[in-house]
Amino acid sequence: MTTRVALRTEKFQLSEHLSIQEMHCHCLNPFCNITLYDDELGKYFEHLRFIIGNIPIRINSGFRCAAHNMQLPNSSMRSQHLVGRAIDMGIPLGVDANVFYNAVKRVGFTFHYLSKDNDFVHADIRPKGDIHG
Ligand SMILES: [Zn+2]
Ligand SMILES: [Zn+2]
Repeated sequence: MTTRVALRTEKFQLSEHLSIQEMHCHCLNPFCNITLYDDELGKYFEHLRFIIGNIPIRINSGFRCAAHNMQLPNSSMRSQHLVGRAIDMGIPLGVDANVFYNAVKRVGFTFHYLSKDNDFVHADIRPKGDIHG
């Protein structure tokens, strides 16, 4: 589990179905020019994708720079998105939200939740014992 750094302009795969472009921060600030990502995130993502039947999973949010993270409601300065260990995923088309969430739990993400409106799942691979959001 190692945090790596990519330039925002880079294009490559973290794993077969997860690209660095999907991890880039969504903000438009020109100073937001690097993307952190954990080198094991792709492995968890592929396992998840496989057990739900090899169907596409949309990444709503991956890495977030601190400035962008602070603009979001209920954001934490200890968010795992800040270090590239977290992904927010949309519920795949045709899959029940709870079925998808159970799959997320099964692949061993260390922290996860299903959103209140059942429209996305947060999953991260923080070191065990780190309780911060
Ligand atoms: Zn940003
Ligand atoms: Zn999240």
